[in-house]
Amino acid sequence: MQFSGRRRKVITSPQVELYGQALQFYGQPPLENMSLSEFESFAVDRLKLLKTIENLGVSYVKLSDDYKRKLDNESRNLNFPYRPDAVPDDRKSQVGPSEYEKRRKDHISHFILRLAYCQTEDLRRWFIQQEVDLFRYRFNGLQPKQKVEFLHKNNLQYDTISVEEKKTLQDKLVNSSHNVSGITVEDQDFYKVPFQDALDLVRTRKVYLKAGYVYIPHQDIVAIVLNDFRTRLSKALALTARSLPAVHSDERLQPLLNHLSHAYVGQDYSIQKNVGKISLEQIDSLSVKSFPLCMRQLHQALRDSHHLRHGGRMQYGLFLKGIGLSLEQALQFWRSEFIRGKVDADKFDKAYAYGIRHMFGKEGKRADYTPYSCMKVILSNLPSQGDHHGCPFRHSDPELLKQKLQFYKVSPSGISQILELVKGMHYQLACQKYFELTHSIEEASFSLNHPNQYFIESQRVLGGGKDIKREVGTPQRSQENSAARGSTTDREAAAAANAAKDLPEMTEDLDSFFQDA
Ligand code: SF4
Repeated sequence: MQFSGRRRKVITSPQVELYGQALQFYGQPPLENMSLSEFESFAVDRLKLLKTIENLGVSYVKLSDDYKRKLDNESRNLNFPYRPDAVPDDRKSQVGPSEYEKRRKDHISHFILRLAYCQTEDLRRWFIQQEVDLFRYRFNGLQPKQKVEFLHKNNLQYDTISVEEKKTLQDKLVNSSHNVSGITVEDQDFYKVPFQDALDLVRTRKVYLKAGYVYIPHQDIVAIVLNDFRTRLSKALALTARSLPAVHSDERLQPLLNHLSHAYVGQDYSIQKNVGKISLEQIDSLSVKSFPLCMRQLHQALRDSHHLRHGGRMQYGLFLKGIGLSLEQALQFWRSEFIRGKVDADKFDKAYAYGIRHMFGKEGKRADYTPYSCMKVILSNLPSQGDHHGCPFRHSDPELLKQKLQFYKVSPSGISQILELVKGMHYQLACQKYFELTHSIEEASFSLNHPNQYFIESQRVLGGGKDIKREVGTPQRSQENSAARGSTTDREAAAAANAAKDLPEMTEDLDSFFQDA
């Protein structure tokens, strides 16, 4: 192609190829040099974007109009790509960064957060979930042609079934697939994929399943692409974790990465501000008024059977610690309940008291264990028969959940709304609806991501708005010392000093952003 007149500057960097499309699998790490301040600002902005995604995911149905509009706005404000039809180097129609610059920021910031979020299982789980949701929103915004281009570019070649096979299976495909009629079956491709690659579609009964394969209409191929993205990201995080010792030896990066990884949930509810403010006599009534369903169910099971299995003891024990039970109270609480059942006092002291002291960081490696977040409860350690832990919105049979809600006097219309949300796999949103119904409020003013947050918000509503929010720990900020230690060259030391100067401001900004999360 020839251009006449003034020659445009052609960007020849290999990265340009990466930014040809608004969406990518982040297969290649960025190779360019960048300043520390840009490194920090990119990371902080992506974290804000991911936190917004998390909050929107528990306040709105994913991909609903409101969800997309709010995510468009946040992407625009933070200078991330949000228009799939934008041309990478088109600067005519916009002020601010070009599309190329936005895509570059998207790419680099993703890799920075990989470094911060590969460190523990919890962090990895949170990061993958938000990145997958971001990917879903962006993939959904692509035109059909762009989707096909994306699949080709990334070598995602799924087998389509032949016209004959389609005709043979027509009735089954129409009856089993979501939004597919007899006319559209002829017009669209169906992909034959092993069922384990499309568990979401199988779980929600949106596809035809035969002999270990599912038949997915083109419009639902996003489920497969997301599965692929999730698997790649999970492997990439495991690999990144191996390079951490090298990264941590860099005194400029370590404090920032630590701070970023600490900011993901705002509060971890392990710092006990209310220790001793709750008496054991109050727990029964609090469980009815202010416990989320998961904890109410555990409390009820403990009172009924005077025992909980390990998963239940961990989930409930850490929650109680988070709401303010001291170690002495916890020991008394569990002991008095267990000895009403088959465990005598001696056995309790030998077999169970250690575990409770462990939970409070008084035994073993003396770690201060953190109460479980909703995501952890929902995604890990699935309950089996005889267990009472887990999230009832995710792990209970819908009929059982309905009975439980009826028993707890939730209105029939409220139960229908909750079950509808559960059907769409919006478990935290269903829990938030339960909160609204049981607290007689129109709309909760928070996005639920933690059972202890539920408790605090409930106490706030019942206490007439009195804030019982806890203090958030001060992050490590040892970066100030880095330039003074003399282990870097003069230029690096100067860069580190500059970065250190900017870091408090930037991280304060981050703190305030997450304060109300
Ligand atoms: Fe508990 Fe969270 Fe499930 Fe609610 S959504 S029941 S707080 S795990």
